[in-house]
Amino acid sequence: MKFLFFIYIIFLPSCKQDIPVPDPKPFKTKNVFIVVMDGSRYTESWGEPNKINIPNIKQLFSQGVMCSNFYNDGQTVTVPGHTAMTTGYYQVINNGGQETPANPSVFQYYLSQFFKPSEDAWVISSKDKLEVLSNCTDTDWAGVFNPRTDCGVNGNHTGYRDDSITFRHLIDTITKYHPHMGIVNFKEPDASGHAANWLEYIQQTKNVDKYIGSLWNFLQSDSLYAGTTTLFVTNDHGRHSDGVYDGFVSHGCDCLGCRHIFLLGIGPDFKTNYIETAHYSLIDIPSTVCKLMGINMPGGQGKVMETIFK
Ligand SMILES: [Zn+2]
Ligand SMILES: [Zn+2]
Repeated sequence: MKFLFFIYIIFLPSCKQDIPVPDPKPFKTKNVFIVVMDGSRYTESWGEPNKINIPNIKQLFSQGVMCSNFYNDGQTVTVPGHTAMTTGYYQVINNGGQETPANPSVFQYYLSQFFKPSEDAWVISSKDKLEVLSNCTDTDWAGVFNPRTDCGVNGNHTGYRDDSITFRHLIDTITKYHPHMGIVNFKEPDASGHAANWLEYIQQTKNVDKYIGSLWNFLQSDSLYAGTTTLFVTNDHGRHSDGVYDGFVSHGCDCLGCRHIFLLGIGPDFKTNYIETAHYSLIDIPSTVCKLMGINMPGGQGKVMETIFK
């Protein structure tokens, strides 16, 4: 019997390494949502001296952390930017919804490790192509533990929908399913930027800012979310700096305008009214989400944003 116990002790550590178990979790956060204001340039968001285009985010800042040296350090287009946020890798990936990420997302790790049904995590997006975020090509993870999706008109390859519809679906989904995790994409102000309409680009920045304020207020009015929810608000990329190519109209290069974005982190475990100037980037979001939620996510190129915690 003693011998058997000895054998058990010898093999226990190696067995444990093969079974992903959640990390210990000393935080108040029980829910995490990532909200993406697509393609807003820093100079029109937090970099605008009076924050006139993002009054709600400015107000939320008093309860959270603004990372002012935050970047997309990979491909500065939509699918690669979002892939960095959900997988922790700057992957060169098709931007038309033709390819799923190579690596499993933070949502797949969450659903797997906490034995949750798919509707406990969501990908909700105005852009249909972002449905690819729900899956990956890793042979151990393809087609399993996928979060639910609600993207574009009616899924991938059906076209973009208006952000007002996405916001309504977001609220309806939270009300009906009470998910613990999700990523939300608003297609603006990117869509109006590409239309070369400066006034609409600014107006749509304000519209998405309003949705973000409304979402936070909604979450704080729900007993299942109030005080236990962390919200990340960011951009997938910026837009060309003035004087680079066609300026605010397009994006996709490595100019400062394309790479410099903002990250607002707000929730019970973060500092408040605090501007973080350390260099962080999109791949650091999933590492930080995992730390908050106790998710064990092997791999990933990012780091935990330790300095924004209380
Ligand atoms: Zn984009
Ligand atoms: Zn550029």
